[in-house]
Amino acid sequence: MTTKQAPSTLQKMGLDSPMALALHLPSRYEDETELLTIEEALNQGRFSSAQTQGIVIRNQVLFRPRRQLLVTIEDHTATLQLRFLNFYPSQQKQMAVGAHVRVRGEVREGFQGPEMVHPTVRAVATDAPLPTSLTPVYPVSAGVSQLVIRKAVTQALRDPSLQDSLAEFLPKKLMSELLPSHDWPSLQSAITYLHQPPADANTQSLLERTHPAWRRVQFEELLAQQISLKRAHAIRRERHAPSFAKASKAGNSLEVALLKALPFQLTGAQNQVWTEIGVDLEKSFPMNRLLQGDVGSGKTVVAALAAARVMDYGYQAAIMAPTEILAEQHYLKMKEWFEPLGVQIAWLSGSLKAKEKRSAQEMIESGQAQLIVGTHALIQENVSFAKLGLAVIDEQHRFGVRQRLEIQQRVGSELFYCHQLMMSATPIPRTLAMTYYADLDVSVIDELPPGRKPINTKVVKASRRDEVISGLHSWLLKGLQAYWVCPLIDESEALQLQTVVESFEQLTQALPEFKVGLVHGRLKAEEKAAVMAAFKANEIQLLVATTVIEVGVDVPNAALMVIEHAERFGYAQIHQLRGRVGRGSADSVCILMYAEPLSMAAKERLQTLREVSDGFVIAERDLSLRGPGELLGAKQSGDAMLRFVDLQRDAWLIELAQQAAERLLVEHADLVERHLERWLGSRAEFLKA
Ligand code: ADP
Ligand code: MG
Repeated sequence: MTTKQAPSTLQKMGLDSPMALALHLPSRYEDETELLTIEEALNQGRFSSAQTQGIVIRNQVLFRPRRQLLVTIEDHTATLQLRFLNFYPSQQKQMAVGAHVRVRGEVREGFQGPEMVHPTVRAVATDAPLPTSLTPVYPVSAGVSQLVIRKAVTQALRDPSLQDSLAEFLPKKLMSELLPSHDWPSLQSAITYLHQPPADANTQSLLERTHPAWRRVQFEELLAQQISLKRAHAIRRERHAPSFAKASKAGNSLEVALLKALPFQLTGAQNQVWTEIGVDLEKSFPMNRLLQGDVGSGKTVVAALAAARVMDYGYQAAIMAPTEILAEQHYLKMKEWFEPLGVQIAWLSGSLKAKEKRSAQEMIESGQAQLIVGTHALIQENVSFAKLGLAVIDEQHRFGVRQRLEIQQRVGSELFYCHQLMMSATPIPRTLAMTYYADLDVSVIDELPPGRKPINTKVVKASRRDEVISGLHSWLLKGLQAYWVCPLIDESEALQLQTVVESFEQLTQALPEFKVGLVHGRLKAEEKAAVMAAFKANEIQLLVATTVIEVGVDVPNAALMVIEHAERFGYAQIHQLRGRVGRGSADSVCILMYAEPLSMAAKERLQTLREVSDGFVIAERDLSLRGPGELLGAKQSGDAMLRFVDLQRDAWLIELAQQAAERLLVEHADLVERHLERWLGSRAEFLKA
């Protein structure tokens, strides 16, 4: 490895300063502090790594069964064979007969007795000193050797600037009050320790990241997160947003009229969250609330009520969804609820024709449109709202990080800040949500509307496809509708298209007396919308679809869903998908068809999905599998914020960090900036997304 390339590769990994290198902590360690005699190494037991040394007494290249280098070393106790299947001439020279080498590797049983295959070899004098600390192994990207990164880190740790960057500034008094019995080292010694633990360090706790040195680092990181959270909270409270108090019972309020016109009563949970949101809307600073509720829990009507409140005051409300299909569903629902009440609704999506788009924009700009529903186009297409009071963002975690930043920038415009309500059907534990997003209030709908029957989930082998189709046939004969979902095929969109089309053709043939429809990602938005409308009107009885129907689609008469290749889907995806059924009064069925062979993980996943219908429980399984970042769609920002903390493992630290953050902000405002700069640096922007 030439030193010329190394810096740029390290830079690509973001390791471009002493501080960045210092915070690039090892993922594990190797013990090179111990040197065994060859006999001890042989006796130590197979498959464990050992370090020993000796003089080369034989060095030969064999050609059978393939070209390889065989080297034998000996010390005063025994001999050991080293085997290299790939080797460079330089290695052959390094291990010339008579050379003294120190080797490290696993001893295993070879054809001709015990041997090490591909040990690490260093030519050193017999009495060359041993390292006194464990050797760190760093996470690296391809093309960076451990040697290069170790050298860079060692250099960084010696850099004078680091003294400053890692300076201790948590007041001793504060720490001893918060955590009287802590045995945490200072930050600088914690970092040094983690890079170079002494030979007798407790490697178990280092690996599990529960060692006091790790605790110290994790605490600092959490502290930065809590501080930025609290600061964002304080900043929001200083901003101004229009205040919308609860409507009086009398008069022609949309809020009251909508409640009256609804064909159902709000559930207790819906009432509860609507109260929480109502309180936020009365405040003169912007609401920033996440409304969580399992699929089908009825979030839309809560959003509609919030919109009604805002419109009652002559302000506009906007509802934005991440896909055309979902946005369209909202549009239809809002038309159904609000048009009879005389509300002007505008629809804006990227697929509108230029002329339609312009007229929608005009309606929005003039204030003629009171309620605006659309996709991301709402913020992309240079729309200026006459008087926006509320932005509802459905399934916000499905927007990309950049889009979410754009949304935040638009919602917090120069003029004023509007209230913001985000909705998500991915139920995540409340504390997790609140620690992940900077400054966010969370409401949860934890109850489904009455009369919902549990979805009966079945797991079926793909070889029983014919049976499934004949079951489907009798289902449709009852006048009910159904979905047939084909899997996402990551490798090739063309292949994916082929599978849906094939299934569509097969099912069309197998069910001649019914109309079968087809939707997939390649269709134009208006084609998709036409198929969905026909399905909703029961002109289509069976809808063959890709995962484009994953979120939000609402057709109560469709209570059967077949999912092909269910083994390829994740927990959340299947849970969301099957949330499409079970919306009407009919018994709902979800059939998970799988192809063999089934991996252990997939088997467990399907079993869990069969047994568990509670989205929160499923999310928890998912969480332990994938980590919270991915689940929240906050991978980038989440990673940036918490690199060393595992919110599940280290939950107890959160509270401590919260308390420390509170006190620092009040008692040591000067330290706060330094702390944030240290931990977040340029990443701070991402946290707003
Ligand atoms: P989600 O939370 O998944 O977005 P929706 O808002 O689409 O769920 O609601 C699912 C279905 O339940 C819709 O058809 C909606 O009209 C209906 N619904 C919502 N609230 C109630 C309620 N309190 N009682 C009966 N049905 C309801
Ligand atoms: Mg929804």
